[in-house]
Amino acid sequence: MEALVLERQGELSLRDMPEIDRAEETLGPRDVRIRLHTVGICGSDVHYYTHGRIGPFVVNAPMILGHEASGTVIECGAEVTTLAPGDRVCMEPGIPDPNSRASRMGMYNIDPAVRFWATPPVHGILRPTCTHPEAFTFRLPDNVSFAEAAMVEPLAVGIHAATKARVKPGDNAVVMGAGPIGLVTALSALAAGCARVWVSDLAQPKLEIAASLSAAITPVSPGDLAAQVLAATDGWGAELVFEATGSPHAAAGVFQPLAPGGCVVMIGGQPDPIAYDAGAAMVREARVENIFRYAHAFPRCLNMIASGAIDVKPLITRTFGFEDSLRAFQIAASAPPADVKMQIELPQ
Ligand SMILES: [Zn+2]
Repeated sequence: MEALVLERQGELSLRDMPEIDRAEETLGPRDVRIRLHTVGICGSDVHYYTHGRIGPFVVNAPMILGHEASGTVIECGAEVTTLAPGDRVCMEPGIPDPNSRASRMGMYNIDPAVRFWATPPVHGILRPTCTHPEAFTFRLPDNVSFAEAAMVEPLAVGIHAATKARVKPGDNAVVMGAGPIGLVTALSALAAGCARVWVSDLAQPKLEIAASLSAAITPVSPGDLAAQVLAATDGWGAELVFEATGSPHAAAGVFQPLAPGGCVVMIGGQPDPIAYDAGAAMVREARVENIFRYAHAFPRCLNMIASGAIDVKPLITRTFGFEDSLRAFQIAASAPPADVKMQIELPQ
């Protein structure tokens, strides 16, 4: 069955992957087989395509891309009790070792043994079907579309970040970066109770999208960020700063708009060591949190989308057919400033 394969850095193809078909011929007793419907293109998929690696994860062999997915259950293992064929679902892409020390402590996302779709050497799911554990597969409420469900994976990062920040009602927040992760973080911070959120980015079209999401979001260019936040808060600053650019330059300034006693959450990946203004952190007694993906977040995300507490639809800016996958990745790799999330729909 045809899959979108990253053959090596810079080279994609749509082709059969017989080893995947063989590996998934048998269904584990607690697994479900899923027909994929919608898959979001993530910055990490694009980065593997353009650079062939992310930090220590190197693409040394052909790998199927994609990890933000929704679909329909078509077959259940013998011991599956909570799902049935025909159920519409989305899937959490990282599978830890359930017996690992980290999993037993509830921190399954930082289990060193976690296997995560489209992180070498694990294949992703830009292919017609996959098998997945029941425990990491979530049934969709009737009013949640496949497209929204494929946004749950990135939204989970924002929900995890807001949880780590311990948002209090009425907090002011800053989100640095208006990419998909920055925008889901802004939505999560507002849903968690923030009074207002400043979102900064170099790309003006992205700031316009950010501003369109909520009257409580104020777009601002990075150069004006600290001054604007301080001016609007009587010089106090924002209680929360979320760093979602992954840019060392942006990260170097995270404490400038931060209020005394505030919290910085580092979200953007930093493959290399970066500068950190320890003095600015000290005089604020800043709390700094780091997140790695998410844990226990998918059901919360689905509940919030279903209830209308969070609307991810404005973030989906383009949809491609599976046969157009190569073109979709070329466009994504050009980083179009007016796009947030691009998705690929598989034939049903
Ligand atoms: Zn992703």
